[in-house]
Amino acid sequence: MKLEGRCAAGLSDSVETCVTRDRATMLYAHGRAGILATMLVSALLALTVAPAGGRRGLMLWLAAMMVVQAVRSLDLLLWYRRPRHVFNGPQRIVRFAVGAMASAAVWAAFPVLFFHGLPQAARMAAVVTLGAMASGSATVLAPCLTLAISYCVFLIVPAALSMLASTVQEDMLLGTLSLLYCVVLVVSSRIAHQASVGALRLGRENERLVLHADRQRRQTEAANEELGTAKQALAESNQMLETRVQERTAELANEVLVREQYAEALARLASTDPLTGLCNRTTFTERLARLLAVAEHAKVQVAVLFLDLDNFKQINDVRGHGTGDQVLQAVAGVLGTHVTTGAEIARWGGDEFLVAVHVVDCEAAADLAQNLRDALAEPMEVGVDTVRVEATIGVALFPKDATAQDELIRAADVAMYEAKREGKGRVKLFDPVLASDMAERFALEQGLRHALARQELSLAFQPIVSARTGRTYAFEALLRWRHPDRGMVSPMDFIPIAEQTGQIYEISRWVLKEACTQAAGWPDATIAVTVNISVAHVLTGTLIADVETALAASGLAPYRLQLEITESMFLGDHVRAAPVFEALRARGIRILLDDFGTGYSSLAYLGRLPVDVIKIDRSFVVNAERDGYATIEAILSLARALGMEVTAEGVETNVQRDTLRKRGVQRFQGYLFSRPIPAAEVEAWLRRDEPAPAKPAQAAGHSLVPIEARTRFEARTPVEA
Ligand code: C2E
Ligand code: MG
Ligand code: MG
Repeated sequence: MKLEGRCAAGLSDSVETCVTRDRATMLYAHGRAGILATMLVSALLALTVAPAGGRRGLMLWLAAMMVVQAVRSLDLLLWYRRPRHVFNGPQRIVRFAVGAMASAAVWAAFPVLFFHGLPQAARMAAVVTLGAMASGSATVLAPCLTLAISYCVFLIVPAALSMLASTVQEDMLLGTLSLLYCVVLVVSSRIAHQASVGALRLGRENERLVLHADRQRRQTEAANEELGTAKQALAESNQMLETRVQERTAELANEVLVREQYAEALARLASTDPLTGLCNRTTFTERLARLLAVAEHAKVQVAVLFLDLDNFKQINDVRGHGTGDQVLQAVAGVLGTHVTTGAEIARWGGDEFLVAVHVVDCEAAADLAQNLRDALAEPMEVGVDTVRVEATIGVALFPKDATAQDELIRAADVAMYEAKREGKGRVKLFDPVLASDMAERFALEQGLRHALARQELSLAFQPIVSARTGRTYAFEALLRWRHPDRGMVSPMDFIPIAEQTGQIYEISRWVLKEACTQAAGWPDATIAVTVNISVAHVLTGTLIADVETALAASGLAPYRLQLEITESMFLGDHVRAAPVFEALRARGIRILLDDFGTGYSSLAYLGRLPVDVIKIDRSFVVNAERDGYATIEAILSLARALGMEVTAEGVETNVQRDTLRKRGVQRFQGYLFSRPIPAAEVEAWLRRDEPAPAKPAQAAGHSLVPIEARTRFEARTPVEA
């Protein structure tokens, strides 16, 4: 028999639930045979026996039996249509039992109703038939013990009791035997029940074990599969990781290499001059210190040669900056080939070079300097040009002239300046007499270090007046240093030192800020302030930022700030300087070309410079009075052509003023109008400068400046603080 209602739903149902369903299944499985046997046996019995009172009652009984079997068959049919696996076992058993017990009841009615009218043989046959039916049911109905026992009892006991009630001895014997048989059947039903239920339970438990084992096997398989996949993923990720590590290692190695190259390049940049490849200042100073240490130990001398090219400015101006750069490179080459190994060479500034070398004595140092001067004077092939370079060389010796590297360089510098003073293209050894100059310089340098912190610096303001109206147009901010011991020190003396020592940067920023702050406080918000900017500041690359900081801090409008620069700004570094001033002009700041006409002026490239105003130098103004105004006129017509304005500096006399005004100079600056005045006096100056009530115009040909203003200029010469 195939067990249904099995635990296919898994292990969710208990064993007992499954066993109950199995019992119901067993009952129904045998039910068909039981119904058939019942129908067959009851029909045979009803048709073969003949009761004394006629067959009518028997037929009714048979009909009742058939109806019961029909109902049971219907139940059987419904059984086959039930859900196969999940059904209510106990309910099914009860339904089956009701059907079976209805059959049993009909069977039980048979001896009660018909035995008294039957012949003995028929009665005995009926008892045997009922016993046989009961015996069959003892095992078939064993899954439900109560049903099996009740069925046997219903089939046997009424027949047996009917037989015992008979007076015939054989009947009584059969009745007794039947009762005994009933007991045997009850016992065997019980045994069959226990055996079948035990087998079912065992089967179910076994099935559970198998299911459990199967589930575990599947779980193990799944786990194994997962493990395999994980292992594979692990292997793959390991592989990937390894590849990544290899790649990263290669990348890192590459990065390290690039970094090293960068570091090397940076170190090279930091230590060398990019144009010539020679040492820069810092490196040279360090190496010189080492050279001196060795010399001190070996008791030898070190010569420091300070070279300055005399005609470099002209080369730059005439042949262009490209050629200028090539000349500087060529000079570096010449120096390199003419000094002994172990010597140190540096480019110190624009056209300044330094050489440091061990020498036997000062004659050897002088010879070397002479040789270098001669070698440089040889014609140089630079591109398609042939260039001759002249150099002035100052020489200082360690330990004779100085022992510290800074002092030694300064001594060579002093010697070089002295040589220049005497005439260019010379070699000059440091003269101890020059030492006092040096000491002076050194003292100023030391003093300058604390000047800002000790508030020894201040600004004086010199008016720049309009030639047309005679009214103040702007003030030039001029730096003043009140030295605690020396009194006022001229900016001409300390600014070059500040530039050489790098202090100019800090000072220049202070000047910018102070000038803007002062200007922002002036009562007339149309008056501009002009500030002198040194080359060194431009080369630091922070000028734009510093100007912006000063404007932001003071609140001064950019159009009120003007910057004075000199042509030397563009010497050799036009490429770097020009965009800075273009950017400042774009912000509304005007650029003035200061000291125009001194030394290097080249009218030829004036048009290329980013300037708005030319300031004709004082020397020109003075010379013009003596030599005529042709040059000034040339400058003026060029300025007009280039759309630039012209201010004349150092105007001291009325004649100068009038002549310059007639020629078209737009503004004046000079002692005629005012010396530089302390900041505190600017306000009073501006008050006095306020426009006078209109007066009738002067006769034709007279100056454009109102009489009022002119008398004011002449009367007013505030003394500089
Ligand atoms: P500069 O910029 O050409 O300034 C004009 C100089 O000529 C000032 O000298 C001024 O006092 C002087 N001066 C003005 N009018 C006359 C005159 O009629 N006759 C004579 N004999 N001199 C006159 P100062 O103040 O001694 O300045 C000298 C130079 O120092 C300035 O020349 C400028 O190049 C530099 N300087 C001054 N202040 C600063 C500054 O803040 N930064 C920088 N980098 N340089 C400055
Ligand atoms: Mg100036
Ligand atoms: Mg000037």
